[in-house]
Amino acid sequence: MGGPHTSAAPETIPAFVDHIVQGEGETAVLEIARGRVNERIVKKERRTNLDALPFQPWDIFAQMPYDFSCQWLSVKPIFTLNTSRGCPFNCTFCSVGSIWGKLYTYYSAERIISEIDYLVKTFGAKGIYFREDNFTLKKERVISFCELLLRKNMPIQWMCETRIDTLDENLLTLMRRAGCEALYIGVESGSQRVLDFLKKGIRVEQVENIFRLCHTIGIKTCASFIVGIPTETEAERAETIALSKRLQPTTSWINVFVGIPRSPLYEYVLKNHLYEDIDTCGLVYLKGHNQLVDQFYRGDPKRKIPGHPADQIKTALKNFLLSVCGKQPKRAH
Ligand code: SF4
Repeated sequence: MGGPHTSAAPETIPAFVDHIVQGEGETAVLEIARGRVNERIVKKERRTNLDALPFQPWDIFAQMPYDFSCQWLSVKPIFTLNTSRGCPFNCTFCSVGSIWGKLYTYYSAERIISEIDYLVKTFGAKGIYFREDNFTLKKERVISFCELLLRKNMPIQWMCETRIDTLDENLLTLMRRAGCEALYIGVESGSQRVLDFLKKGIRVEQVENIFRLCHTIGIKTCASFIVGIPTETEAERAETIALSKRLQPTTSWINVFVGIPRSPLYEYVLKNHLYEDIDTCGLVYLKGHNQLVDQFYRGDPKRKIPGHPADQIKTALKNFLLSVCGKQPKRAH
């Protein structure tokens, strides 16, 4: 088993899982397949040269019944790429540090272009969504990538996930010219005090400036916010709602805070006994979580504190049956 969960909450993984791979999986999986691993938890050194990795087995991926569209891009099929790993920032609600560490490693611009070229020629890819924590952290890399796209006249649409303080007008203009359609941006809060508490390292004015530039330049924006952050007051929450309206993003998400294992804020919540519940995956829910779900998600039961494990299994079964045959499961009596 791999993925973020193996680093964030390995103690919640069932005993029948033979090997838990933390961090990068390429070497670990190879060694497990060759029968060379005895330990249950396998963790390898971080790779520094990602360009040395072969392409993913796209031929297998392309046959899977995935939805190859994306609401912010007008073309299809869209492929997702992950071209960097790790994050040097210190946001306290985030567990990326515990999963990858602070070291930021990345594919070169040339490597990204050659993989896109392969996807276009082999599968008719029309767009790319860069699904990674921060595509724009290395400015020179983004500039080279955009210049290569323009020089090679590659007609693809793309979007990426990013941080406000890695963007500026010149970069955004170049990105737009090179086919960037949309940005996913973690804004988190409209309160400067809360942003500082989260150690987000950005200012509200910076956020407003970048969103203004995106509107002018013609890049769509997807803004993500969090409410219910520990120590947040009603007035600070109202500042977040006000900012979400003022920014006029193409799409915005107001997420209700859930503590992620091994993030600094998670430790803070536990230490100060601020939580109401911890679920079977180790996520912590603050007191008042369900009321915020009522307020921001019209009481969506999927977003509420999960019930007893037996209830969770019943809900999962019900959802599965609904997805397979569109029917409610019959009552046992
Ligand atoms: S929220 Fe984003 S910028 Fe902050 S630590 Fe996590 S990955 Fe890095």
